[in-house]
Amino acid sequence: MKVFISADIEGITGVTHWNETSKTNQEGVSFVEQMTSEVKAACEGAIKAGAKEIWIKDAHGSGRNIDSSKLPENIKIVRGWSRDPYSMVQGINESFDAAMFIGYHSAAGSGGNPLSHTMRGSVIYEMRINGERVSEFTLYSYACQYHGVPSVFISGDKKITEDAKGINKNIETVAVMEGVGNSTVSIHPDVSVKKIEEEVTKALNKDISKCNIELPEEFVLEIQYVHHYDAYTYSFYPGAELVDECTVRFTSKDYYEIIRAVLFMK
Ligand SMILES: [Zn+2]
Repeated sequence: MKVFISADIEGITGVTHWNETSKTNQEGVSFVEQMTSEVKAACEGAIKAGAKEIWIKDAHGSGRNIDSSKLPENIKIVRGWSRDPYSMVQGINESFDAAMFIGYHSAAGSGGNPLSHTMRGSVIYEMRINGERVSEFTLYSYACQYHGVPSVFISGDKKITEDAKGINKNIETVAVMEGVGNSTVSIHPDVSVKKIEEEVTKALNKDISKCNIELPEEFVLEIQYVHHYDAYTYSFYPGAELVDECTVRFTSKDYYEIIRAVLFMK
């Protein structure tokens, strides 16, 4: 079995402020270590379920957060950003059996996490596909499904785990914290690690084909920007149109065109 893990940080246990999302800031050091611990737990849970090869995309900020020396030996880790449309799932393809998401967070425009955002928080107010608000989980679990790879597990804030269930009712989830306004209520970081390991094993021991979802026939992507002038600029992306002063729409039947548009429209 070959498994893909995409890891972010704003849904890692306890993370509450931007200062805690980078190891270059003293306040962030322990949270970046916890990110490594939660990814390690997912790897170990996957190995217990029979995973032979695990790819990890370090998908936060610089893409250079996770300490790979702490991880099991049968991994490959993607660090930095190639800057291709697959972004947070760079490297995904048909050879994988399952995808998992660690440290994921609520979408831009929603509560659920003090750090809710989708891609670039300072630029994008909300992103929608077919009228529904989308998160980074939606964007890139769809990208995995586009290659026939089902998303079987997500950990992060409570709201993103609920939103994920709404898209994929058979996905296993671990909520490590709940956002309340500008605060978070978290479980103990060691409990998160134990739960992630257990639930990942459970997720992969099930019939993972039940986690396949049917992608929409057509995707109407709408990006609502914080600033009208960003909407104006991105409305010149080929095929895109300005819907209102802050919102750009782009439509395609091919999901690859959607993630390509997202790459250039943020
Ligand atoms: Zn993120």
